[in-house]
Amino acid sequence: MKKISVVVPCYNEQESVELFYNEMVSVAAKMNNDFEFIFVNDGSKDRTLEIVKGLGEKDERVKYISFSRNFGKEAAIYAGFSNASGDYVVMMDADLQDPPKLLPEMLDAIEKEGYDSVATRRVTRKGEPPIRSFFARMFYKLINKISDVDIVDGARDYRLMTAKMKDAIVNMPEYNRFSKGIFGWVGFNTKWLEYENIERVAGETKWNFWKLFLYSIEGIIAYSTAPLALAYIFGFLSCLGALGLFIFSLVRTFAFGDPFGSAATLASACFFVGGVQLICMGILGHYLSKTYLETKKRPVYIVKDTNI
Ligand code: UDP
Ligand code: MG
Repeated sequence: MKKISVVVPCYNEQESVELFYNEMVSVAAKMNNDFEFIFVNDGSKDRTLEIVKGLGEKDERVKYISFSRNFGKEAAIYAGFSNASGDYVVMMDADLQDPPKLLPEMLDAIEKEGYDSVATRRVTRKGEPPIRSFFARMFYKLINKISDVDIVDGARDYRLMTAKMKDAIVNMPEYNRFSKGIFGWVGFNTKWLEYENIERVAGETKWNFWKLFLYSIEGIIAYSTAPLALAYIFGFLSCLGALGLFIFSLVRTFAFGDPFGSAATLASACFFVGGVQLICMGILGHYLSKTYLETKKRPVYIVKDTNI
């Protein structure tokens, strides 16, 4: 019998985690597989860990890994994957936005159709603020233009994969982790299942607009070096502009004997060029800071308590 490891990142999920467990167990009961449920407690400040430990006492398939602080969902996924012993690994949110009942269909695609992984994407963004959907769409358009990995719009992190693919992901020990990029980068054949967006059962989303915005910048920096080329483009444009102005002022001086330019034009040109230079330095700095963090080789997460 093949074993499936279910990885569940949990951050302040006291309202959802038990609901999730019940639903997951009822799906598991209908499948002909062994299971392990790895709950990764990502520094929750509520009773999440207590509840998970309680589940572990009743059900020996329940494993937990508890971090020393909040390291973020990416770190939680990495920890879960690193400790998963199943033939297949799936990750799901604790809030039932990733419906466990899709699992049998996902497994069929791997076992019968020969895919290495089955991923899910939501085709609607129902229940999401429109402005957030708008920026999300822009982000996917942009990143797919400037990066050579395929990042699918509306892709959830809900994904079942073979142990081989999981191992490839675990073997990418980068510190700045952007799962949507990593999954694309490692390759393998992926089947996409589509479903309508489902709102979380309980509790609140941990993402606000600002956090999502920063996360999208992470994604761009991690999977594209195109922003670095902006310096060339700005530089080139500003050289062209300068040349044009030079010719214009020459013509004016010779034709009308009237020297071109006032203090205001000069000042605005200075500010413009200065601004462009600062933007380019900022972009450079961003890449440098990411490189700096990678070279420190800090662990992605620190475990405080576990039963694995
Ligand atoms: N999560 C986590 N660490 C964090 C933030 C979130 O482990 O720092 C978990 C969270 O408990 C949930 C999943 O990641 O199981 C997705 O989070 P959420 O539902 O808040 O995101 P959304 O579904 O709204 O994108
Ligand atoms: Mg959610």
